[in-house]
Amino acid sequence: MGGFYSKSDPVSIYPMGEYTIDGARAALEAVLAPIGGLECIPRGSRVVIKANLVSAMKPDEAATTHPTLICALCDMLAERECSVVIGDSPGGLYNAAFVGRVYNVTGMHEAEAHGATLNSDYSQSTAEFPEGKVLHSFTYTSYLDKADHIINFCKLKSHGMMGMSCAAKNMFGVIPGIIKPEYHYRFPKYEDFADMIVDLDEYFHPTLSIADAVVGMEGNGPTAGTPKAMNCILASRSPHCLDTAAAELLGFTREELPILDAAYRRGLAPESFSELNLIGSLDPLRVKDFERVVERRSLEFTGNGKSGIKRLFGRIAGAILRTRPRLKADLCVGCGICKNICPAKAIVIKNGKARINKKTCIRCFCCQEFCPKSAMKVHRTALASLFHHEKKEKK
Ligand code: SF4
Ligand code: SF4
Repeated sequence: MGGFYSKSDPVSIYPMGEYTIDGARAALEAVLAPIGGLECIPRGSRVVIKANLVSAMKPDEAATTHPTLICALCDMLAERECSVVIGDSPGGLYNAAFVGRVYNVTGMHEAEAHGATLNSDYSQSTAEFPEGKVLHSFTYTSYLDKADHIINFCKLKSHGMMGMSCAAKNMFGVIPGIIKPEYHYRFPKYEDFADMIVDLDEYFHPTLSIADAVVGMEGNGPTAGTPKAMNCILASRSPHCLDTAAAELLGFTREELPILDAAYRRGLAPESFSELNLIGSLDPLRVKDFERVVERRSLEFTGNGKSGIKRLFGRIAGAILRTRPRLKADLCVGCGICKNICPAKAIVIKNGKARINKKTCIRCFCCQEFCPKSAMKVHRTALASLFHHEKKEKK
């Protein structure tokens, strides 16, 4: 594995309105044809489909890759005499009981009738990656070692920390669930976290990326948002070029998405959508009124300016304007999942409700991502909202 993507890798987009097995097969063939079909996966290969199985959620909740699309892809791979393993490491424990429940609820067992095996190897490996920009050693899910090729089959969603979750972000699922919060702690700055994700894509180098954007997620994503019809699928050899098209589809600029911006700074993504080598028509598929989590990145102030005044202003502005997790107490059932997953140990459960220590919170939004009751929201102060509104007016 290893290697680099090109910012000129073509991206293909194709309309798909509903999840039927025949429709999924036709759409997959159509979206892949202009980029060489499955020729990039030699016959007889051992393939891992790295799906998005973030949590035990039903397919119609739109947090996970839809099983119908995966089944159709498995049929196509079976015809190429490939062996197929489907896997992911959801947030939480990485063991047979926990992941088995995720397989059940997300409908992944359907893929077994299409020749695939669900990963049952829960061992972990460590990697040394001196070429990585920020990630030089890490722990990952060992089943990936058995793959000749990885197909990165993601879901297009809003994301509390990174703005958008699509192809590049999906590879964070190679990190065992219980360890994921540690990475937020290792890389608390959004720019570093984004570079860490790009490093993972560089290390594992999925041969093909496909995005399920038939019904994606908007709002309080990536798990507590609302399903949103997007009516298409996308495919590319490069996850970063695919994300460039997905960003345009939802109305994001590159600068608003830290992972895409990190890829651009490393020469792996085009500067803007206008430079993308796109095959297919994106215009009629543009998602109208896509609800973002928040305009978070535009409100980041690091306080790293050279002069003392600038640094002071940066720190004050950062404190006032930055977004934070906030509890909707009426929804909280005091289950403690957020407390256990919080990498900064910033949450305690008191009187049956979660409480966040603002001083130690690193704003990774793991609590927002994994709260099963959608009780954690991304909160923007009133002043930040005003600032955001003004920025929009000026656009
Ligand atoms: S905020 Fe969510 S995860 Fe945390 S204790 Fe409440 S219900 Fe559980
Ligand atoms: S409270 Fe939430 S956002 Fe803050 S560090 Fe903990 S998990 Fe991350």
